[in-house]
Amino acid sequence: MARSVLALDQGTTSSRAIVFGYDGRPTGLAQQEFPQIYPQSGHVEHDPEAIWNSQLDCARRALADAKTAAGDIAAIGITNQRETTILWDRTSGKPVANAIVWQSRITTSLCEHLKANGLEATFRDKTGLVLDPYFSGTKIKYLLDAIPGLRARAARGEILFGTVDSFLLWRLTGGKVHATDYSNASRTLLFNIHTLEWDDELLRLLDVPRNILPKVQPSSGSFGTTDPALFGVALPITGIAGDQQAATFGQACFAPGSAKNTYGTGCFLLLNTGTQPVVSNNGLLTTIGWGVGGKVTYCLEGAVFVGGAVVQWLRDGLGLIGAAPEVEELALRVPDSDGVFFVPAFVGLGAPHWNPTARGTIIGLTRGTQRGHIARAAVEAIAYQTRDVLDAMQRDAGLTLNHLKVDGGASRNDLLMQFQADLLGVPVRRPVVSETTALGAAYLAGLAVGYWTDPGDIVRNWALEREFLPGAALADREHRYERWQRAVERSKNWAE
Ligand code: ADP
Repeated sequence: MARSVLALDQGTTSSRAIVFGYDGRPTGLAQQEFPQIYPQSGHVEHDPEAIWNSQLDCARRALADAKTAAGDIAAIGITNQRETTILWDRTSGKPVANAIVWQSRITTSLCEHLKANGLEATFRDKTGLVLDPYFSGTKIKYLLDAIPGLRARAARGEILFGTVDSFLLWRLTGGKVHATDYSNASRTLLFNIHTLEWDDELLRLLDVPRNILPKVQPSSGSFGTTDPALFGVALPITGIAGDQQAATFGQACFAPGSAKNTYGTGCFLLLNTGTQPVVSNNGLLTTIGWGVGGKVTYCLEGAVFVGGAVVQWLRDGLGLIGAAPEVEELALRVPDSDGVFFVPAFVGLGAPHWNPTARGTIIGLTRGTQRGHIARAAVEAIAYQTRDVLDAMQRDAGLTLNHLKVDGGASRNDLLMQFQADLLGVPVRRPVVSETTALGAAYLAGLAVGYWTDPGDIVRNWALEREFLPGAALADREHRYERWQRAVERSKNWAE
C-alpha cells in the first residue's frame, strides 16, 4: 500500500507541491516562481491566474517526480501565504482584480482612520490582531470601494471572497466549494476567534457583506473533492492551514508551550498556547493554530518583517556576497561584530514594536569596521529580533521555553543557529525535513482520512538533524542584548 499525501504549498514568491509518504519524508517535489506585481511603492499584487496555474502545474509535476499515480494519493492538503485577498465572480470563477498581497501597505490610511475612531480594542478583543494593513479585512473593503459597480454585484450575491486557500479550493473543486479553515479565517480581521464565527459588528465596521464570505471549517476534515478533469480522478481535499500555522503543525508543536521559528524572508515565531487564546500585552498576535478533532488550538505569534531578507540585501543592495549562504563565511572572518549593531527595519518594525516609521540602522561603526563585521551584525540581527519576540511571548504566556524548533531558508546557517541558542539560552533544534509548511498541510489532510491515525504518528516522524546548545556566558549575553535594544530605540520613528 504505497499510498501518499499531496501537499500544495502556495507561497508568496513561489508555488510548491510535495508528495509525502507515511514516514513524513518527501518523495517528490516541484516548485515554480510567479511574478510579483508592484503597481506603486508599498503596493504588492499577484495575478490569481498565475497562482492557480503555477500551483496546478506543480501538483502534476510533483506526482510525476514521485512516480506516483493520482489514484495513489490518499488526500490533498493546502497551505498558503496568509491574508492575501482575492475577490472573484461566482459564476465565471474569474478574479475581479489582482490579489492584494499581505505585504501591501495599500490600506494604511484606512487602518489609521479606524484607529483614530478608537476601534483598535474592538478588533483586538475579537480577532486577536492589530489594526495593520497586513490583514485581509481592510483589503476587501478597499477592493469593494475601488472597483466601480463591485459593491452592487456583491449585494446581488455575484462576488466571492477568499484567501488563497479558498480560491484554490474553489478552483480545485470546479467551483463547487467555497470554504476556508479557522487558521486562515483568523487572519482576516472579520473572524471572532472566541465564538469561531464571522462577526457582524466587524463586518459592519469594515463594510463587508456577509454573503461574500467562505464557510469556515476545522483545518482537518473534508473540504471537497477535486474536479476529475484535473488529475483524472476525484481526490479528497481534507486539510487546510495558513503557512505559519501549518509549519507549527508540521514541527509537531502540539504541547502547549512548544514553539517554532521560521527563518524565511521574515521570521515567524509561533507558540502553542493550548485551547485558550492568550491575549498579548506585549505586541504579539493571538491567532488560531488549527482546528483538529473538534478542538481548536490557539497560538501567540510574533511576525518579524525582515529576517533572511537582510541577507538578500547584503547580496543585492550592497553586493557584499554573491549568494545568501556566503554570508556565513564572511561573518566568520571576524570573531564578533566588534560593537556593530544592524537593525534591519527596512519596512518599519513588526512584532513586538509595531513601529511603521522605523528604518534600517547600522550603528557602532569605527575605522576598524570591516565587511565581516557588517555581515556578522546582519546575521546576529535575525537572532536579536527573534529574542525580542520570544521575550514578549514568554511574558504574555507566563512560561519559559525549554527549546526552540526552527525551519526556513536561513535556519541552514549554523552560525546564526548557534548565536540564537547562545542568545536565548535554550537549545535550538533543526529537523531533518525542512519542508515543515508543506508537511503540516499533509499531516492535517492525512489525519482526516486515517492515513496517519493520531498526532503520536507525527511526533514519532519528527527527526532531529542538529541541535545547537547554548554556550556563551550569561553576563556577556545580557550585555550584548542591552546594546541591541538601544540600537532598536535609535531606529524607531526615523521616517516620521
Ligand atoms: P521564503 O519562504 O520566505 O521565501 P525561505 O525559507 O525560502 O524564504 O528562505 C529564504 C531566505 O533565507 C532569504 O531571505 C535568504 O536571504 C535567506 N537565506 C538563505 N540561506 C541563508 C543562509 N545560509 N544564511 C542566512 N540567510 C539565508
